[in-house]
Amino acid sequence: MTLFEKIANHEIPAKIVHEDDDLVAFHDINPQAPHHIIIIPRRPIASINEVEPNDAELIGKMVILAKELAQRLGVSDSGYRLVFNCGAQGGQTVEHVHLHLIGGRQLHWPPG
Ligand code: AMP
Repeated sequence: MTLFEKIANHEIPAKIVHEDDDLVAFHDINPQAPHHIIIIPRRPIASINEVEPNDAELIGKMVILAKELAQRLGVSDSGYRLVFNCGAQGGQTVEHVHLHLIGGRQLHWPPG
């Protein structure tokens, strides 16, 4: 079972901000900005490389939830970043697909 499945199952503590039948969202344990939320599907897809056309609705729900959480956090107008890291060079460390919602400060580009 992945670390994020254990968080979704409440087997590992996390500051959960949203749960529904498909998705769970919680505070990143090592936040990179004042707001840093991780959004996961309950189903443990390993990475974006394993996403299939049948997952389009699920991935879309992740983006819609990110938008709603950004509104709740008050960063919709100031701006924020959504990131899927994929694989080693993409910086992925947890093999359970997840969307980072990062905001609350000026973010820079290109990323490091
Ligand atoms: P990534 O590097 O894209 O795979 O992102 C994994 C993220 O999960 C990192 O930003 C970590 O800080 C975060 N993380 C790791 N363990 C935990 C945990 N127990 N609770 C919350 N976030 C975590």
